[in-house]
Amino acid sequence: MKAMKEIWAEALKTLRNEVTAVSYDLWITTLEPFDLVDNVLYLTTTSETAKARVLKLHEGQILQALLLADPEIKNFQVFDPTERERYLNAKTEKMAQLQEQAPIYRFEPKYSFDTFVVGNSNKYVYAACRGVAENPFTKINPLFIYGGVGLGKTHLLHAIGNYLNQTRPELKVLYVTCNKFVNDYIECMASKDTIAAISSFRSKYSSVDVLMVDDIQFIANKTGTQEEFFHTFNDMFQNNKQIIITSDRPPKEIATLEDRLVSRFSMGIMQDIQSPDYETRFAILQKKAQQENFEVDEEVINHLAEVCDTNVREMEGILSKIIFYAQLAGKSRATMEEVKEALKDVPDTTRQDITADRILDQVCKYFSLTKDSLVGKKKNKEVVEPRQIAMYLICELLDLPLTSIGQLFGGRDHTTVIHAREKITNEIRENKRIKVMVDDIKNIIERK
Ligand code: ADP
Ligand code: MG
Repeated sequence: MKAMKEIWAEALKTLRNEVTAVSYDLWITTLEPFDLVDNVLYLTTTSETAKARVLKLHEGQILQALLLADPEIKNFQVFDPTERERYLNAKTEKMAQLQEQAPIYRFEPKYSFDTFVVGNSNKYVYAACRGVAENPFTKINPLFIYGGVGLGKTHLLHAIGNYLNQTRPELKVLYVTCNKFVNDYIECMASKDTIAAISSFRSKYSSVDVLMVDDIQFIANKTGTQEEFFHTFNDMFQNNKQIIITSDRPPKEIATLEDRLVSRFSMGIMQDIQSPDYETRFAILQKKAQQENFEVDEEVINHLAEVCDTNVREMEGILSKIIFYAQLAGKSRATMEEVKEALKDVPDTTRQDITADRILDQVCKYFSLTKDSLVGKKKNKEVVEPRQIAMYLICELLDLPLTSIGQLFGGRDHTTVIHAREKITNEIRENKRIKVMVDDIKNIIERK
């Protein structure tokens, strides 16, 4: 099917030869296509009279000309300006209704409050989420949840979504990852009609009752998106909508997050989620085994709960693998045998491959310094701080005698190392900039 403008342009060519020059100029040229739906072309003209004349004199010729231009055309309609406006308004309304009816986000049914194991590490965050789910739009707004990866943040957002969909089906609940928000926004900015794109972007968010943004830390460094998010946030907040945000760290530690966003996020409830303790890990594993409907020896659960002590997602992955191996071997229950097999190809995240050289390299890279200057004698601020951070990190991550660490830095005394370690330890507590830098470097070093 061709585009309406093209079809009409071709039809005009035919009509020019078919009708008298006077009629062509007087009536045909007043017609303009404005919509094409189900092979019906909608034309508008200048007045009621023009419409009447055109149809009376040329209806048959116009249809013929259109068919010649595009054989798929079924019919055409001529509207005067009032009719055209009515038609377009009705269409906009219908689209809005359709949008309203559409389910906004399909939450994962398996991530519910029932499947979430509550322990000391997450009881407060659980209570806050439960509170929002049972009584949205009240004091817990915005709710800001932060904590490391794989600790259940996304699970809790889905739990709130599932709960609200069941108990308050009239509410529109939207879940977006921060990356989706960023990409949508970038797409708007790149579109030909930026103003229209942004306005439809905004109306999408303003029609939502509950907005969840997962992993907001990815908004760091994206100034334009931060600006847009700030407006979305304020709009929603002023209209008493519910907002829930997650992040891998508190707002203050998201480098380059604008202060006004930091302070907006801090207006409601801020709740952290910690790594689960042994008992909670044990209970989570038991629950997952139940969900997978497979018997797992208690010894296995105990072992996993002992060795996987930070990330629930990783722990779950290993359990699934163990169950898979047991099934593969035709067994009806998983035992320690499978544990050995499953743990074999888990990447070793212990620190044995971290060396002093690697730490020095990363610090140099991070601050764009040469190794000579990092370990050298210069005392200007540009090298002293990185040097102290490097000493701190080596103390933190490696089990080396202080004198050996001093050796690495051009034979410095062990008291210099102690001083650096204490200084940076304090700075991390008091100075956000230092904390962010140290965390960043540590992350790079610990990542393989
Ligand atoms: P995050 O978003 O914090 O990175 P997720 O919500 O994706 O973490 O959780 C990772 C996995 O761990 C999910 O499969 C989730 O169901 C599970 N999980 C985390 N915490 C718990 C918990 N307390 N109880 C049950 N499952 C949990
Ligand atoms: Mg997540």
